[in-house]
Amino acid sequence: MFSLQLSDDQQAVLDLAKTFSRKEMMPLAAKYDESMEYPWEVIKKAHEAGLLNLSLKEEHGGLGLGALLQAMVVEELGYGCSAMATAITANDLALGPVLPVATPEQLEEFIKPMVDKPIMAAYCVTEPGAGSDVAGIKTSCKRDGDNYILNGEKMWITNGSVASWYFVLATLDASQGHKAMCGFIVPSNLPGIAVGKKEVNMGQRCSDTRGIVFKDVKIPKKYLLGKEGEGFKYAMKAFDHSRPFVAAVGVGIAQCAMDHSVKYALERKAFGKPIAEHQAVAFMIADMAKDVEAARLLYQKAGWMADQGMRNTKWCSFAKCFGGDIAVRVSQDAVQIFGGFGYSTEYPVEKLYRDSKICQIYEGTQQIQRLIISRAVFGEAQG
Ligand SMILES: Cc1cc2nc3c(=O)[nH]c(=O)nc-3n(C[C@H](O)[C@H](O)[C@H](O)COP(=O)(O)OP(=O)(O)OC[C@H]3O[C@@H](n4cnc5c(N)ncnc54)[C@H](O)[C@@H]3O)c2cc1C
Repeated sequence: MFSLQLSDDQQAVLDLAKTFSRKEMMPLAAKYDESMEYPWEVIKKAHEAGLLNLSLKEEHGGLGLGALLQAMVVEELGYGCSAMATAITANDLALGPVLPVATPEQLEEFIKPMVDKPIMAAYCVTEPGAGSDVAGIKTSCKRDGDNYILNGEKMWITNGSVASWYFVLATLDASQGHKAMCGFIVPSNLPGIAVGKKEVNMGQRCSDTRGIVFKDVKIPKKYLLGKEGEGFKYAMKAFDHSRPFVAAVGVGIAQCAMDHSVKYALERKAFGKPIAEHQAVAFMIADMAKDVEAARLLYQKAGWMADQGMRNTKWCSFAKCFGGDIAVRVSQDAVQIFGGFGYSTEYPVEKLYRDSKICQIYEGTQQIQRLIISRAVFGEAQG
């Protein structure tokens, strides 16, 4: 039976995340949005607080929180500043395909240092010509004695310039689609790697998004993850863990937008009474409240299923799709409730609205989530 029962220790972790987001993230959110600088000071504090690399298990030196609690923590981080939350959780996205198959040597070289220091990582899959269609990537990995030679271009890589290592998906033979794909851990300082300029995005502006070019990059065989031909599977499976995080970030944005809206609606007067007493405004708040709760339950169920060892792919898509959509809808309505002030950078809701949009795009667009859901539904109907 689906349960949200937290132990005292788990509740303490959640409380810590809540306090961290309100004290260390929220006060700096507007400043970093404006400067677009990478929020290293927050990342370092998050690491000290144990809130970086949430997905590390105890055997890796992490807290071993479980998928449900991790996502609940991410909601709190998303509430504080979703751009910073994206920078933080990009590490978990990169760890996703690595942890299940990493060798003891790979764990020692790349994962153990992350426990001791605020080391960042990146998930390098998307390319200029292949985003939704991951099976269409062209980055090649050719066998060359004890090495692979990597050539290609990745795009929109979160943490691109700050990562010490990348998870890279490449292909032995592009004509073979996903069957020829390999996943690698690639140290970011290898010769032949060139990181592009920072993308100036609509929202989440302090998150670091870059293109990365790999030109004749020599990768020792020991950095291959698992088996040749299995890379696509590792890269896709990681979404069963990370999509609830995106949904949770969306819920954090929406909850924050709603809290601002409720406060403002009670204070702001129009036609001689608080705007909260105008039904049109009150009903927007009602829709916010029900949508936030529904979206929260969806990501929690997806996380809980993972903790029970259940296949949760469809539920991750439910959560990501609905969580992303309500983040946009609720933050948009928050701007509306604030009227002209909502459109001004003096107030926090326009940033929430700008930040929310990416929740409908990265880690599989809303259309791709619907594709996954519809295939699952028809598959179930046909046995
Ligand atoms: C800020 C940011 C950060 C990102 N971070 C990362 C990262 O860290 N690592 C990484 O690998 N990638 C990252 N991405 C890439 C992101 O995952 C892709 O942008 C996303 O998957 C969409 O791919 P695309 O941009 O190529 O759009 P396209 O695939 O070209 O899609 C364009 C439109 O067509 C629709 N569409 C495409 N195919 C179908 C279909 N079969 N059915 C219906 N509609 C379809 C899409 O939904 C979309 O509306 C990031 C992107 C951004 C903007």
